[in-house]
Amino acid sequence: MKPWKLLEVNYNFVKNYSYEVAVLPIGATEPHNLHLPYGNDAMTTERIGDLICERAHQLGAKAALLPCIPYGVDSNLMGFPMTISLNPSTVDILITDIVRSIEAHGIRKMVILNGHGGNGLKNLLRELYGKTEVFLSLVDWWKVPSDLYPSLLDHPGGDHAEEMETSVALCLYPELVELDAADEGAVKTSHFEAINKGWAQITRPWHLITTNAGVGNPKKADAQKGKIILDAVVERIGQYLFELSEAEIGDAFPY
Ligand SMILES: [Zn+2]
Repeated sequence: MKPWKLLEVNYNFVKNYSYEVAVLPIGATEPHNLHLPYGNDAMTTERIGDLICERAHQLGAKAALLPCIPYGVDSNLMGFPMTISLNPSTVDILITDIVRSIEAHGIRKMVILNGHGGNGLKNLLRELYGKTEVFLSLVDWWKVPSDLYPSLLDHPGGDHAEEMETSVALCLYPELVELDAADEGAVKTSHFEAINKGWAQITRPWHLITTNAGVGNPKKADAQKGKIILDAVVERIGQYLFELSEAEIGDAFPY
């Protein structure tokens, strides 16, 4: 039994244990180029949640890993079959109910561990600010080791089923990665320079800008790169969870 994993512990354990910090993973169910599973973001984020809580536990933290939300905001990938999408407002309601639940049980710190770029959750933190006693922070796990990408990756810079994401998948569940099937993840540019430059933001219509849902070339992905990325993610977020677990919440928290 993993003491951090809520799906595995029993009441006999929980009644004598007090968790300090909750971790809520959220992913997505969507195509990832031709080679990664539809559940990639959910499975990767769930596994990372398990690994960071294990590391935090080793350091002495009392972290609770909540079950992963397997769906995310995917309205702009609905052009691909079997994409399952939640509206941003639905995700906000779902997470708010989970925050209220852990708050009722006396937990005062929570990390939302996000594994899907479409889940823009910062506004939810702003929405709940001042309305809950739970200190909320949001970690997009793929941003945590981004300082390593330029030297580690042959094709840094993609953002969907690319070399980084594929390397992590090859490290965690190689049996579900069909790398030979992948295309090069080329992306169309817009007629509008403003959109290409990024200062005019849009919801990118994935079926129009990609060939097979991938953004970024995954061909040079390998498990060793994935392990380097995961090791950094686990060490850095694990340490953060430990610090959160130990911290006393006062008026000036977290400063
Ligand atoms: Zn993904």
